[in-house]
Amino acid sequence: MKIGVLASQGAFAEHIAKLHQLGVETVPVRLPEELEGLDGLIIPGGESTSIGRLMRDYKMTDKIRDRAKHGLPVFGTCAGLILLAKKNSDAYPGLLGLMDITVRRNAFGRQRESFETELSVPALGENPFPGVFIRAPLIEQANGQVEILARLADGTMVAARQGKLLALAFHPELTDDLRFHRYFLDIVAGRQ
Ligand code: GLN
Repeated sequence: MKIGVLASQGAFAEHIAKLHQLGVETVPVRLPEELEGLDGLIIPGGESTSIGRLMRDYKMTDKIRDRAKHGLPVFGTCAGLILLAKKNSDAYPGLLGLMDITVRRNAFGRQRESFETELSVPALGENPFPGVFIRAPLIEQANGQVEILARLADGTMVAARQGKLLALAFHPELTDDLRFHRYFLDIVAGRQ
């Protein structure tokens, strides 16, 4: 199994470290040809406008969208979730538009710019997952085939899956908990 991590900007090194911990062959992806032969792709957190722009400048947007439409599993965290969404509260180029969700960027305002909270994620078992939120988006709307995997205590949707696409508003790569990375690898392997 070979997993690519989009490495143009943001927290890609942390995702690569998690995948190494899980013993998975990992490729940092900066150029379109590096998408060849991947079994899955992670789009990290960072600044979605910058990642989106770099993706477009390096001619990767269409290629990633096309591969995902043909079944490539993609895991987006934070900015990665924003890029996966079909709709965004403010439009800018470079969106992949793959998941039937509407997201709101920087949704938690100044008071709660970064926070940590325990999340109940039934798909991962009983133990709560440490949710690390940094200038995080939220999922405003989810349609069709989207399964919501986690919500904040007030009901706000913060994790979703649609087929082989997985998107989180928070940063599992900044915790010691490997369950979401394992869950993604299970999707890639067809075990989930
Ligand atoms: N605020 C960032 C954005 O809108 C996302 C933050 C993150 O990825 N931690 O793109």
